[in-house]
Amino acid sequence: MKRIAIDMDEVIADFVSKHLNLFNAQYNEKLSGDDLHGTRLWKIRPHLEKEILGYVDEPDFFRDLKVMEGSQEVIQELSNFYEIFITTAAMEHPSSFEAKYEWLKEHFSFLSDRNFVFCGDKSIINADYLIDDSPRHFERFRGQGILFTALHNINETGYVRVNDWSEVRNYFL
Ligand SMILES: [Mg+2]
Repeated sequence: MKRIAIDMDEVIADFVSKHLNLFNAQYNEKLSGDDLHGTRLWKIRPHLEKEILGYVDEPDFFRDLKVMEGSQEVIQELSNFYEIFITTAAMEHPSSFEAKYEWLKEHFSFLSDRNFVFCGDKSIINADYLIDDSPRHFERFRGQGILFTALHNINETGYVRVNDWSEVRNYFL
C-alpha cells in the first residue's frame, strides 16, 4: 500500500476558529476569517504576537478543536486502500502532546497508535504523499506534497491543492 501522511492542525483539526474566538473574546475584537486571508493572526496584530502564540502553549488548547468536516469519513475510507499516518510537528508545542494524543484517540480511534507521528522536521517522514496546510513542510519532503487550503495559504501557488476533504477523496479514489 502507498502511504499518505496527514497533518493535524488546519487539515483534520480546526485550529483557526478556536484561536480566533479566544483572541476576539479577550481583546474585544471582531476579526473573522476574511481578515486572515493570506496571513496569520499574529501578523495582523504584531504587538500582541507573544500573547496570541501563548494560547497555543496552554496544555488543553488542542483538546477540544473541532474536527474538519468530512475528514473522519474520508480518512476511514482511504485507510482501506492506503496506509495512513497522522504527522504533526508537535515539537513546536511540546505542551500539546497529551491533548493532541487524546484528541486523536477520541476522533480517529479507527487508526492505530502506531500511525500517530509526533515529530519536528517532517522531512524525516517516509511517505508517498503529505497533506499539509504549511508549504514549508514540502521543501525537503521526498513524496508528493498536497496543499490543504487554509486561510493563511490562500494565495500560495505552485502546489497541488485540495480545498476540502471531498477533494482529497477525489484525488485519491
Ligand atoms: Mg497544519
